[in-house]
Amino acid sequence: MPLNEHGLTELISLLQKKDITPLEIATDLLSAVNDKDKVLHAYLEVYGDELLDVAGRITRDGSFCEKPLCGVPIAVKDNICVEGKKTTCGSRILEDYESPYHATAIEKLIASGAIISGKTNLDEFAMGSSTENSAFGPTRNPWDLERAPGGSSGGSAAAVAAGIAPAALGSDTGGSIRQPAGFCGVVGMKPTYGTVSRYGLVAFASSFDQIGPIAKSVEDCALVLSVITGGDRKDATSTHSLTRDFTRSLEKGLEGLTVGIPKDFLKKNMDAEVEQNFDELLNLLRSHNVPIMDVSLPHSGYAVACYYIIANAEASANLARYDGVRYGYRAAEYDTLDDMYARTRGEGFGEEVQRRILLGTYVLSAGYYDAYYLKAQMVRSLIIRDFESAFEACDLLMMPTSPTPAFKLGEKVADPLLMYLSDIFTVPANLAGLPAISIPSGLSGGGLPLGIQLIGPPCKDETVLAAAYGLEREIGFDRKPNVRS
Ligand code: GLN
Repeated sequence: MPLNEHGLTELISLLQKKDITPLEIATDLLSAVNDKDKVLHAYLEVYGDELLDVAGRITRDGSFCEKPLCGVPIAVKDNICVEGKKTTCGSRILEDYESPYHATAIEKLIASGAIISGKTNLDEFAMGSSTENSAFGPTRNPWDLERAPGGSSGGSAAAVAAGIAPAALGSDTGGSIRQPAGFCGVVGMKPTYGTVSRYGLVAFASSFDQIGPIAKSVEDCALVLSVITGGDRKDATSTHSLTRDFTRSLEKGLEGLTVGIPKDFLKKNMDAEVEQNFDELLNLLRSHNVPIMDVSLPHSGYAVACYYIIANAEASANLARYDGVRYGYRAAEYDTLDDMYARTRGEGFGEEVQRRILLGTYVLSAGYYDAYYLKAQMVRSLIIRDFESAFEACDLLMMPTSPTPAFKLGEKVADPLLMYLSDIFTVPANLAGLPAISIPSGLSGGGLPLGIQLIGPPCKDETVLAAAYGLEREIGFDRKPNVRS
């Protein structure tokens, strides 16, 4: 089996036994990229020379076993800064922007011995659910090249699924780690808000954004999260979680946990195949005597509207910095300063990003602020309270990651509302800052992966991971896509 089709944990154990070397993994990764990524377009940039240099050096001096990640390559979504490298955010406006510093998560990965393999494709500024909003062209789903890999971390999820990265980082503002993980048949985790420093993650909606892992297994996700977690003076919203080692209690599995099902919310919103897979999972849990109960999330029907008001409001403020003065692109021709701003932003941002800036500015403007932004903040509080009361009765919630399997490229891109509605099961966890994971739960009739999501109370990331580990074992999903170049 090609080396990069192994998960992270397997690779590390092979490395520790000296059965393989970091240089062999790096070489295999580059040939797999060569072979598959022309069709997939999961990477925007591959750091081929550096990967070979660093992997070669630590292979020769034998130092790779001194650090927990032992020289394994990890791919990074292109809205996370790597020093001296481009961070385009999938946007023309940052096409030539080079990060002068590492994101904290990158510093931690490198300090733990990982080698960054390159940058992966995304919807422009992480705004989207299909990776079609990338200014550099879409990524294709490795399971079906006519379909979207999900988004916005579609490049990261496709790379892991196709065996051109053993693991990757993504970011999740409204589902961008979990939904592509679900569409590509891999595992993706959004930690509790604050668990991973946002320093060096290009801001989209600051009260939602979180960096997290996409990998082949729950254990691999737990390992990456253990490396990148931690409070950071450079991000005031980051927290010192008590858990430093998220792999520690995986073996506990689902033991002693009660799983809540928000039946009313789900019923109206899933398609038939997803519902059937969900029912099968419920039966699986029942057959293992896992207690299951109905819970109610009465305000979750407003979650998509609430998310798209607040996230766009925050985005409109965060994206004000791209004005042609300090960062990135500046229009070649203009008359006045205002004209320079308008042309730079009009030429530099794609259609979806412009739509969001306009909507966000609108909901924050005098006269509309109370009706939209303030109302949405109130609804956000109600959604948080719904979760609080659900978690008084159960330990975790289970729901599909998405209402459908991967949709076709081009199917939703012309209808933004339809695209927004595909986030219905992922945005509630972001509104409430909760830890949530997506793991593969089977294949659709058409052979596409389906994802199941577990959501826990704040700071219970360890419980979410343990439960997902248990469920992953019960499901036993072992299928892989067959990418032909
Ligand atoms: N699909 C959602 C959006 O477009 C979520 C994106 C994300 O999590 N970055 O806003």
